[in-house]
Amino acid sequence: MTDSVKTLCPYCGVGCGLEVSPPASTTHATHRDSQGKPIWKVMGDRSHPSSKGMVCVKGATIMEAVDKDRLLYPMMRESLSDSFRRVSWDEAFDRIVQQIKTVIQTQGADGICMYGSGQFQTEDYYIAQKLLKGCLGTNNFDANSRLCMSSAVAGYIQSFGSDGPPCCYDDLDLTDCAFLIGTNAADCHPIVFNRLHKHIKKDRKAKLIVVDPRTTKTAEASDLHLAIKPGTDIDLLNGIAHLLMLWGKIDTFFIDECTQGFSQYAEIIRHYSPEVVARRCNIPIEHLEQAAKYWAESERVLSLWSMGINQSSEGTAKVRTIINLHLMTANIGKPGAGPFSLTGQPNAMGGREAGGLSHILPGYRSVKNATHRSELEQFWGLKPGQISPNPGRDVWSMITGLERGEVGLLWIAATNPAVSLPDLVRTKSALLQSPLTVYQDAYYPTETTAYAHIILPAAQWSEKTGTMTNSERMVTLSPQFRPRPGEAKADWEIFAEVGRRLGFTQQFQFETSAEVHREFVQLTRNRPCEMTGMSYERLQQEGPLQWPCSETETEPEIETKETGLLSSWFKNKAGQPPGKRLYTHLKFNTPDGRARFAAFHSKGLAEPPDENYPLVLTVGRLYGHWHTQTRTGRIEKITKMHPNPFIEIHPKDAVKVGIQDGELVEVRSRRGSAQFPAMITKAIAPGTVFVPMHWGALWGNNTEANTLTHPEACPISLEPELKACAVQLIPV
Ligand code: SF4
Repeated sequence: MTDSVKTLCPYCGVGCGLEVSPPASTTHATHRDSQGKPIWKVMGDRSHPSSKGMVCVKGATIMEAVDKDRLLYPMMRESLSDSFRRVSWDEAFDRIVQQIKTVIQTQGADGICMYGSGQFQTEDYYIAQKLLKGCLGTNNFDANSRLCMSSAVAGYIQSFGSDGPPCCYDDLDLTDCAFLIGTNAADCHPIVFNRLHKHIKKDRKAKLIVVDPRTTKTAEASDLHLAIKPGTDIDLLNGIAHLLMLWGKIDTFFIDECTQGFSQYAEIIRHYSPEVVARRCNIPIEHLEQAAKYWAESERVLSLWSMGINQSSEGTAKVRTIINLHLMTANIGKPGAGPFSLTGQPNAMGGREAGGLSHILPGYRSVKNATHRSELEQFWGLKPGQISPNPGRDVWSMITGLERGEVGLLWIAATNPAVSLPDLVRTKSALLQSPLTVYQDAYYPTETTAYAHIILPAAQWSEKTGTMTNSERMVTLSPQFRPRPGEAKADWEIFAEVGRRLGFTQQFQFETSAEVHREFVQLTRNRPCEMTGMSYERLQQEGPLQWPCSETETEPEIETKETGLLSSWFKNKAGQPPGKRLYTHLKFNTPDGRARFAAFHSKGLAEPPDENYPLVLTVGRLYGHWHTQTRTGRIEKITKMHPNPFIEIHPKDAVKVGIQDGELVEVRSRRGSAQFPAMITKAIAPGTVFVPMHWGALWGNNTEANTLTHPEACPISLEPELKACAVQLIPV
C-alpha cells in the first residue's frame, strides 16, 4: 500500500497543499465516488506553508473527477464533419510534424500557434517555449493566463521593472487595512480570504475595504463596501490619492528616494476631487472619504485584486494606479503591505517564470531584448538570431489570424477556448476555419473537441510529476502517484517528442521531468525569479519553497528592532518559516532602482451602456465551480451546490423589464444572446447584471456568458475586457 502523498491542489492560484491517501479496502472505505467506489482521500496538508491545512470544496473533491470521461488514445479525423478514429501516437506525431514542416515552408514559422494553459506544470510550459520560441523560431505561444492576469504582469513590469507579486500570504495576518478591489476572494480564492478574514475579525483595529459593484460574500464581510459603477476603478483610486495628497498623508521621503514620475501623477490626481469621483463612481462622498481615511490611518495597507481589475480595456492602467497608491504612501517592501495580485490558474505564475506568454521568454526575459534572446539561443544550442524579436500572437490575435487565413496549425492544450474566449460566435466561426487544430487534453469531450482534427490524451495532475508556483511565489512539487489512463502522456513529453521528430534531438534529450526542471532553473540564475536553489530533491525533502531561492542562499534575516520593517524576513504568527517579500530594501528592478509612478486618467468601459443596450453585464465565478467545468461539472457535490446558471438583476431593473424572480430572461448584446433564469436581488447594483461564466454548450442550453462579451482589450497587456459589456434584457 502506497503511503499518503503530499501535493498541490491543481485548481486555483492560492496553491493549497493537499495530502492524499490511497483508497481503503472496499469494505472499510469512507471516501467513495458517487457510484460508491472507494477513492483516494484528500485532506489539507497542514505542513504546507501557504495553506496550513486549509482546503476548499474544489480541492477536497478533486479525486471524484480524475477518472471520469478521460481521453484515452490519440484520435484523428480529416475534416470536422468526420468522426474521430483511433490512431497510434506514431500516426498522430507524423501528421503534426508533417503539418509543421508544410506550414514553415508555405507560411513561415509564424503560421504555427500554440495556446496553452495555467494548468500546465512549469516543465510543460518550459518545453513548449523551447519548441516554439527556440527551435521553431516563432513567439506564437500564448496561454489562458492572457485572459486572467496579463494586466498584472504588465503593471508590475512597468512600475517595478520586472514581473512578480511583491507580497506573501503572511501579509494577510499582518495588515492594518486590506483593500480588495475587483476580487470576490471569498468565492474565488477562498483560502486566502479565510486567512485574511480571520485576522480582520481578531484584530479589531484592522479594516477591510471591498470595491465591487456586487454585494458578494467578500463585500458582506467588509467594514466598507464601495459598490462603484463598473469601469470607474481609476476614478476611485485617483480620488483616494487626491485626498491623501490633500491631507498630507503621503511619504515624501520614499517618493523622493525610491520613485520617479510623481509630479506628473500629482498633476493628474488634482482633477479627482471627492465631488467628481463620488458622482462618477455613483457612491456617497462619505464612503470615498472613509476609504481614504482607512488608507491614511494605516501603517500597512495590503491591496488584493484579480479579474475585476485585470480583465479590462484599461487593465494595466488600473494595476499601475493601484501601485501608485502604494508608492505614494510607502506601503511596499514591509510586512502587511503591498500590491498583491491573486492569480487565477494554479500555475499562471510558473507560466510567467517559464516565459509562457507571447511577449516573454523563460526567466522573466523579454522577446524584445536582444541580450535575453542571445542568452537563450546560446543556452539552447541554437544559431544566433533564431529567436524572433517580435512578440508573437496573443490568443485573440490567433483568432483573427484564423479569420485571415494566416494560421496553418493551431495547437491547443489544457484549456477550453470554445467556452472561455470572448465573443464566442466569432471565436467558434474562426475555429471552424483552422486548417489543422491539435487539441491536447485530459478529458473527452469538451466543447473545444468539436473544433479539433487531432486529439491527444494528456496525463493530468496526479499522473505526472512537476512543479507549480502559487500567487505568493511558493513552488510546490506535485508528484505522480497514480497510473496514467490509456495512452496518456505528460504535456512536456508530447512537445519534446515532436521536437525530436523535427530533428532537434540535442535539445530534447529529457527522460524525466526532474531533468527538465534542472535545465529550466538554470535559466533563472541571477534573474528576479531565481530558483536555482530549488531541486526536486530539496522540494521533496524540505517541502515547498518560495523564490527568490538561489543555490547560495544564506540563513534568513529575522526582523529585529535594528533591522526594522525593511528586513527581508518577518517571523509569521504560526512560527513557520517566514514568507519572503520582494523590494524589502526598496530597490526596484528598473535600471536606476526606482519604481515608476504612472499618470492615467480614467477612460471607462470599452462598451458603455446606451439606449439600446442599457445594462452592464459583468461575469464571474462561483465558489464550487472551476472555469468551464471540465472537472467540477463531473463532481456530484459541486453540481448539486450550483445546479444551474442564473442572471442577477436588481429589483428596479426587473420592474423596468417586467421580469419576475425565476422567469427565463433572454440577454442580448451586439454579438449574441443567451438565456438564464432571473435571480432578482439587491446584491447587484441597479444598472448592472451578473452571470456566472462556467456554463458552456456541454452543460447548458444557450447559457454561454461569453456569447455576450466582447474582445476589446487593454492595449498594453492585451487582456480582453471580459468583465463588462452592454446588454439588453427581454422576457422569454
Ligand atoms: Fe484549491 Fe484554490 Fe480551493 Fe485552495 S482555494 S483548495 S488551491 S481551489
